[in-house]
Amino acid sequence: MALHEDELRKLINCIVTSHQDDCLDCESCGQQLDCLAELVAQGRSLDDLMPEVTTHLCCCRDCFEEFEALVAILRAEQGGQLDISG
Ligand SMILES: [Zn+2]
Repeated sequence: MALHEDELRKLINCIVTSHQDDCLDCESCGQQLDCLAELVAQGRSLDDLMPEVTTHLCCCRDCFEEFEALVAILRAEQGGQLDISG
């Protein structure tokens, strides 16, 4: 359960500690979010996959919240699917 909390915490920490100007715009970022959320929900590191998106999420609260929600949904779905052994 606590496995992937670190990554979100890192992002949250990034939001409060830094503001960067050279971000992706929200549209470009949004196009990646679905796919990235899926990978992150599977345990991949967002920073490895798409550092630019990480940067954008760090300075754009709207996209960050959307991403966070997507990951939460996907993890919930995975939780259901993986629970096959009963
Ligand atoms: Zn954005």
